[in-house]
Amino acid sequence: MGNSKAETPKMGSFNGVGVAPGVAIGVARVIESGSLSVPEYALKSETDVTADVDRLERALIKSRRQLKALRMKSKSLPAAAAEEMGYLLDAHAAMLDESRLVRGFRRRVQEGRINAEAAVQTEVTHMARGFEQLDDPYIAARATDVREVGGRVLRNLMEGQSPSLGDLAPGTILIAEDITPADTAQMDPTVVAGFAAVLGGAEGHAAIMARSMGLPAVLGAADLLQKVRSGDAVIVDGQSGRVIVNPDEKTRARYEDKRASLERETLKLQRLRDVPAITADGSKVTLLANLELVRDTKQATGAGAEGIGLLRTEFMFMNRNQTPDEDEQYDILASVVKQMEGRPVTIRTLDIGGEKLAYSLGSILEDHVGDAVNPALGVRAIRLSLREPKLFEAQLCAILRAAAHGPVRILLPMITTPGEVKQVREILKRLWRRLKKRGVDLPTEMPPLGVMIEIPGAALAADALAQSADFFAIGSNDLTMYTLAIDRADERVAHLYNPLHPAVLRLIEFTVQAALRARIPVSICGEIAGDPKFTPLLIGFGVRELSMSPVSLARVKQRILKLDTANAVRRARLVMEVADTGRIAALLDDLDGLA
Ligand code: PEP
Ligand code: MG
Repeated sequence: MGNSKAETPKMGSFNGVGVAPGVAIGVARVIESGSLSVPEYALKSETDVTADVDRLERALIKSRRQLKALRMKSKSLPAAAAEEMGYLLDAHAAMLDESRLVRGFRRRVQEGRINAEAAVQTEVTHMARGFEQLDDPYIAARATDVREVGGRVLRNLMEGQSPSLGDLAPGTILIAEDITPADTAQMDPTVVAGFAAVLGGAEGHAAIMARSMGLPAVLGAADLLQKVRSGDAVIVDGQSGRVIVNPDEKTRARYEDKRASLERETLKLQRLRDVPAITADGSKVTLLANLELVRDTKQATGAGAEGIGLLRTEFMFMNRNQTPDEDEQYDILASVVKQMEGRPVTIRTLDIGGEKLAYSLGSILEDHVGDAVNPALGVRAIRLSLREPKLFEAQLCAILRAAAHGPVRILLPMITTPGEVKQVREILKRLWRRLKKRGVDLPTEMPPLGVMIEIPGAALAADALAQSADFFAIGSNDLTMYTLAIDRADERVAHLYNPLHPAVLRLIEFTVQAALRARIPVSICGEIAGDPKFTPLLIGFGVRELSMSPVSLARVKQRILKLDTANAVRRARLVMEVADTGRIAALLDDLDGLA
């Protein structure tokens, strides 16, 4: 943000929340909103003009809200930094408050009849150039502010579209105000060494992606953008949540040692790859992988996954201008099924909405998510699919066709009632008949249809849902978020997010029991499945199927090999008698020490 770089790089260090372990040492690249490629087109009708003015207003409201949130966050900084950042954010807020700039945006849409993105881009360039041509260095510096504010509005207008990350040098550490799930999906882990952002919490999808790609990451680091410039040397410690800029020799050497020792540990764990996950007393546990990017299928098999327990298909819709059609989806899914060579693949239907947005779904998102005050409670996941039959049917057809190549299970996100499952079953039967008539290759039987249990209401009605679902997958991430009313991605409330809350544990235990009573398979695919600390508790609840990011498989397996099931059951009962989250955590630590 608008201040100049110090002449001799001084070491600085600051804290956020460590969300993905590991140490990254590299060179910073600050992601600017301006690196989006902005579409430009003429608006043909009055309706188009009105629609784009509406989009612009919504992006302005969102931008103002973000500035307010950042302003609040800046108060937690040391006094001088808080003052400097506060001053800057106030200046930005003023620029979006019925200013000449905002009037210019509107005029270009209404009178110039160009789309909102192009209107913002053109007005910003025009005004910034005007400032730059003035002799006064103070006013000239305003040009940077105008570009930054414009970049923010653009990013909000083009939500779900990520800046291009195509031209990065290996060892790059990305620094940004916010990293979206779509941004992470674009990161190539052979080039990007890690990332850090001002906003975001440990349970959001950007953090999940970082863990699954093995990228060290820190989120919620308030003064990041004040201190780091592109080209600076940076260390990101994803365990402690520390970011160090321009480290001195000694610090760098210390972190290099730490990185090397973590790498040695990972190598050691790799030896467990082909060892079956069987507890010390002989109970078999099935360990599956969560997959976001299809390119990571090899990583899953390489880490010894016995199948895919959760394929998050929404990532196939991100970072592109158009949604993939049925054939393209089929090609992608069939390639995963084939690569898994007979191991089961659980394909979850689109879970778009909330913080997971995809630019390719443009007008669909505008219609259903748009300016929802509570998008996480609105049209998300199955609710969106059922409202968009064409989109949903294309995806289901692609899944049915892919199922001809190996065992596939279909998983529905955000289910609350048996009615939704029945509705999907009907659609599936109809599509099956249609595909059959077309002479398309299909599996011998309809794939099992399961539901995510990730809403408290679904967990409490798990016995009823078990009558209509073929299997359950417990999504402990959303289950925790919805039970405790904590936004997973909001770093301001992240400290309240805790899957160890007795309410969450009771819902999980109840769901597992309902599944066992109904004799349907039940797995856990939220982040707790990949945390070895939870393993004894989950096994004690009766869970025998865990799905996690491939990088967590070996560590969880290591824990299972040492576990005694009867002991785990006894200990789980003890945990369930405790109401205090802190005591539960202490009991789990205790449990962790026991075989
Ligand atoms: C969950 O909610 O636990 C889950 C696995 O789904 P996602 O994280 O994709 O929302
Ligand atoms: Mg979920």
